[in-house]
Amino acid sequence: MIRESHIENIHRRLIERIEILGAISSSAESLTRVFLSKEMDIASRLIQSWMNTAGLVSNIDPFQNVIGSWPSNTAKAPSIHIGSHYDTVVEAGKYDGVLGVLLSIGAIELLQAEGYAPKHHINALAFCDEEGVRFQTTFLGSSLLCGAFDDSALDKVDSEGMSMREAFLARGFNPDNIAHIAPIIGGDDVFLEAHIEQGPVLEASGHPLGVVTAVAAQTRIGVAATGKAGHAGTTPHDLRTDALACAAEMILAVEHFALARPEVKATVGKLEISPNASNAIPGRADFSIDFRAPDLGRLRELKIDLLREIESIAERRSIKIDIQNIQETSHANCDPVVTKLISGAVAANTGQVTELFSGAGHDAMKIAETCRIGMLFVRCQDGLSHHPDEFAESSDILEALRSMADIIKRVDQNAFAHM
Ligand SMILES: [Zn+2]
Repeated sequence: MIRESHIENIHRRLIERIEILGAISSSAESLTRVFLSKEMDIASRLIQSWMNTAGLVSNIDPFQNVIGSWPSNTAKAPSIHIGSHYDTVVEAGKYDGVLGVLLSIGAIELLQAEGYAPKHHINALAFCDEEGVRFQTTFLGSSLLCGAFDDSALDKVDSEGMSMREAFLARGFNPDNIAHIAPIIGGDDVFLEAHIEQGPVLEASGHPLGVVTAVAAQTRIGVAATGKAGHAGTTPHDLRTDALACAAEMILAVEHFALARPEVKATVGKLEISPNASNAIPGRADFSIDFRAPDLGRLRELKIDLLREIESIAERRSIKIDIQNIQETSHANCDPVVTKLISGAVAANTGQVTELFSGAGHDAMKIAETCRIGMLFVRCQDGLSHHPDEFAESSDILEALRSMADIIKRVDQNAFAHM
């Protein structure tokens, strides 16, 4: 048994560490920490020092992934990896990603304080680039650790015109050597990720923790609507092809489409118009559609229906449209055996279980292509995330800490039928 004072100490330290990492930012006013930056260097060294304090053997790889290992006595055993990301969006909250990283270290500290001897190798992982802010690339850290890094990302360019290849070279790492970095996540392993929910379901249900069953499929579409710009005072309305009025109707159609289908989320979050002048009819409107559904097959079917509606609006208004498929990510199912073990631990620790699916992407989603995954969600205030006011209660984090330690034990003892 672990003494309550031990748990209190580990919990208090975890909360302090959230604040410490929350202050490591490239901006004085808010939290922004992006891939291959000096802020990531500072944060990675701190995370490494906390892993060392937890008794882990740690290293930082050339991508700024931080890896802390607790080896099993059985050399050939598969691994249980626990982690999340520590890069942030622009003007971020302190909990997104970081909470999962710190819970992995804290849960391991708890198990070690208890004198637990794992049958499997246990790794705490802190991934370097989940948000993809700098190069518009997501899941870079987890891809590398799965041996699935796509070299074409090296040619992507940041807002200053520097390519990822140049950014690596500037740090003294030759990206030609990426192929020699051995993946540490293998097909027989299990990956566990804890993350703030980033949505309002747990708060509405009154439960501190949720068990994730799947991560939704998502696609990003770009729509360019071209009409004809003209003088706002002289062009009769029946002779106009107003690209913005057309885009506005399309945006409302996107909203209606999602409202009629509760399993779907469809969002237009970006709109640019030209010439963007108060006395000119807009000649062009470019907007994005972020479209998500529980599984990829359904997502593709529904996308055809949605785009058909958009095309018919364009046709009726004599507007030319160009539709670009920018990105598509498959859904990822959490492993049923691992999910059951997580549910068992959450029920034992909190007396309740809420199952939900994640509409947001996570490293676990990428890792699901390599091995079995399980995810735990922690309630966050107002479902708010990617925002400076993002907040998770200290008491909920304590529940998550106890549950994570229990989850690791249950997975270590039960998830590997062949051991
Ligand atoms: Zn995140």
